[in-house]
Amino acid sequence: MGNVVDEFITRVYDVVRTNPSGEVADYIPELAAVAPDGFGIAVATGDGHVYEVGDTSVPFTIQSISKPFTYALALADHGVDAVAEKIDVEPSGEPFNEISLDPDTERPRNPMINAGAITAASLVQGANPAEQFERIRALYSRCAGRNLGLDEAVYRSEARTGHRNRAIGYMLRSFGVITDDPDDAVDVYFRQCSIEVTCRDLALMAATLANNGVNPSTRDRVLNPALVERVLSVMTTCGMYDAAGEWVTEVGMPAKSGVGGGVLAVLPGQLGIAVYSPRLDRHGNSVRGVQACRELSRDLELHFLHVT
Ligand code: GLU
Repeated sequence: MGNVVDEFITRVYDVVRTNPSGEVADYIPELAAVAPDGFGIAVATGDGHVYEVGDTSVPFTIQSISKPFTYALALADHGVDAVAEKIDVEPSGEPFNEISLDPDTERPRNPMINAGAITAASLVQGANPAEQFERIRALYSRCAGRNLGLDEAVYRSEARTGHRNRAIGYMLRSFGVITDDPDDAVDVYFRQCSIEVTCRDLALMAATLANNGVNPSTRDRVLNPALVERVLSVMTTCGMYDAAGEWVTEVGMPAKSGVGGGVLAVLPGQLGIAVYSPRLDRHGNSVRGVQACRELSRDLELHFLHVT
């Protein structure tokens, strides 16, 4: 079995690698400076084995792939109902950084857009922002099975340039969605986006979600199954920026991407998949990440609506 998976992901890697399209994120110099053609694929199985090919140990920032995990922590801290009063679960059809709330409910439409993600960060328990961030970092680390750290340079740049996210924070505060200092919530969010991961880490984080909240490598129960189901549902409908519909149609797995070039996809009950390749398409999704997941899904028949 092992050799088959190795051969398979190597074949996908060789095919997808020839695709040179897309541009790296350039809204801060630190992201623009990455090696644009870096590329890795990692697949973690339910027994914790990780199959990997290419640049799977190159560090990069998690960016928006952090969102489902912080949402999970907010759910664990407050329960589904209390969080639902603050963050809805409807796809927005708007850019991820839109400065808007649902006009009827006056809530962020979902936790995968920045308004919902900043709200989720504000909900994480802790005596102060440093403690909130430490709990977030600890949760991601348990999902990855190793201690994850912060890329300070990316964090400083995000904080220096993130005026739009600050605007979102203040909007949330003015509508009473955030009740504490909005600058603190946004700062926790900038920090969570700047956590450094590798493609291998993301595969294990995905596998922890696939494995109902238990890290398959360390056997640590990180999240409870009911929460995982909710997180995966939101990833399915809202995880891939404005391309969520196309993704569900063509790949059919709960997933989340980030502008650092990572894509994390989950085959519930079976696999965690991660791809790293920093060139992005116009939606902000990794070009090769999407293509590799499409190939894997098609060839391994991973689409959740596929009937054998
Ligand atoms: N730090 C980024 C922002 O909020 C995250 C972007 C992303 O990965 O979508 O602008």
